[in-house]
Amino acid sequence: MIRFDGVVKKFGDHVVLRELDFTVSPGEFVTLIGPSGSGKTTILRLLMTLERVNEGRIYVGGECLTHTPRGDNMVPANEKHLRQMRKRIGMVFQQFNLFPNMNVLQNVTEAPIRALGLSKGEAEARAVDLLDMVGLSDKARAHPSQLSGGQQQRVAIARALAMRPRVLLLDEVTSALDPELVAGVLRVLKEIATTTDITFLCVTHEMQFARDVSDRVMMFDQGQVIEDAVPEKLFTAPEQPRTREFLHAVL
Ligand code: ATP
Repeated sequence: MIRFDGVVKKFGDHVVLRELDFTVSPGEFVTLIGPSGSGKTTILRLLMTLERVNEGRIYVGGECLTHTPRGDNMVPANEKHLRQMRKRIGMVFQQFNLFPNMNVLQNVTEAPIRALGLSKGEAEARAVDLLDMVGLSDKARAHPSQLSGGQQQRVAIARALAMRPRVLLLDEVTSALDPELVAGVLRVLKEIATTTDITFLCVTHEMQFARDVSDRVMMFDQGQVIEDAVPEKLFTAPEQPRTREFLHAVL
């Protein structure tokens, strides 16, 4: 469902991803862990087409995200192709990025109406179900400023799901939250991960959550995946010294 094939990403002379290869299967929940600055967020930003690769290809759902055919060659994808692909991919950020001037219901219905062409009624029906799922049915008319950080993050999750993405990217979704609000957000994500066939790629420093919900955890360092294992293995018997050192520092 997600495949990185020889992806190189540089910022100036700084090589952030070095011929990166990995695959996330359909419906899998994969978490990326690794030191700060190692390029985890860059991977998500490439998938959201907020950045472009220098080399290599990225595939989502069997289709190439980064390139399109022209004659016998593959050329960098144009904006139209990127827009199409982007509709399949949802992202929830550390900062919830809700529209402050819209209420909760409008936040969740805006993109399906504008980008998918749903009627207002269809989008609202979808939004009502999703707000129920994230435990916020009673907040549909509230504005973001009237909600706690945890509630805003759950609205952001509902908003991403309203597009019915095949892939959901999670970037440190709990790191801006007060500790007592973290559990509610993680509970909602776990519920979604176990009850839908959405493919998840998650970047987090919440090791307990990674352990609890992931099918696989990838340890990332210096632009490459250095260890890739089921959570029980990676957290209890990591093979790489660098993984052991990292886990020792964060656990
Ligand atoms: P953290 O855990 O701290 O969020 P990360 O592993 O997600 O870190 P990235 O945010 O992907 O790391 O950044 C990887 C490297 O790329 C860092 O050295 C960062 O400074 C650099 N970088 C990221 N975005 C840009 C940019 N737009 N321009 C220049 N350098 C950048």
